[in-house]
Amino acid sequence: MRIFDPHIHMSSRTTDDYQRMHAAGVRAVVEPAFWLGQPRTSVGSFLDYFDALLGWEPYRAAQYGIRHHCALALNPKEANDPRCAGVLAELPRYLLKDSVVAVGEVGYDSMTAAEERAFEAQLALARENDLPVLVHTPHRDKAAGTRRTLHVVRDAGIPPERVLIDHLNEPTVGMVADSGCWMGFSIYPDTKMDPGRMVALLKEYGTSRMLVNSAADWGRSDPLKTREVADAMLAAGFGDDDVDQVLWRNPVAFYGQSGRLSLEAGTEAAPDYAGNTIKRG
Ligand SMILES: [Zn+2]
Repeated sequence: MRIFDPHIHMSSRTTDDYQRMHAAGVRAVVEPAFWLGQPRTSVGSFLDYFDALLGWEPYRAAQYGIRHHCALALNPKEANDPRCAGVLAELPRYLLKDSVVAVGEVGYDSMTAAEERAFEAQLALARENDLPVLVHTPHRDKAAGTRRTLHVVRDAGIPPERVLIDHLNEPTVGMVADSGCWMGFSIYPDTKMDPGRMVALLKEYGTSRMLVNSAADWGRSDPLKTREVADAMLAAGFGDDDVDQVLWRNPVAFYGQSGRLSLEAGTEAAPDYAGNTIKRG
């Protein structure tokens, strides 16, 4: 079984996680730029983070046989902090980098005017750079937030097949299915979707344009949730090909629109990164 986790924050995870993910079948990930828990106070803090997503983290993943790509953006929450607004002016040069396969995560957190301005500006950047977009939907008032998200996406004139609307659940999946956008589901240990509910949605809505992720980060989360969904699908009567579509071919098709996915096997992991190594001694 081969698994592509289309949304995971590996910077917050340990090498044990990489090892367990590889053993479970994970061979590729996309790490979207997000907030760190601790608020950032300057643009430079973002740039060091972006550089880590482009350099150090792919190096770390490669030690465990996992291909690492990223999506870059000013995240919705920090779009509200004027100290971070300058990130938007730095993004164009970062979006040109080889392992950037999308703009993201963008969207709404508290649905403020500042969030909307950053969202619209970054949809324009995605269009100009011919990149797909990963859109976060708010955890509070999700149905209203998702509806408004779809309006903003439509008004931006970006083709729906280049947009992934993430963190969906039963009340929000239908409107996204109708929009033509891709549907993302984050499977968490005790909130939002669990594997059983995910399988029920796959039965109801089918397997096309559906993506499953662990969204694992610095909070309570589990990087093996993708594998749990695959196992739950098989137990519920889905075939190996259905599992491969949802857990591998769909993320490859979505992020492949960037023209920058590189998934060839057998690439040697670099011995170090900028003179630094994860090995001890
Ligand atoms: Zn995330």
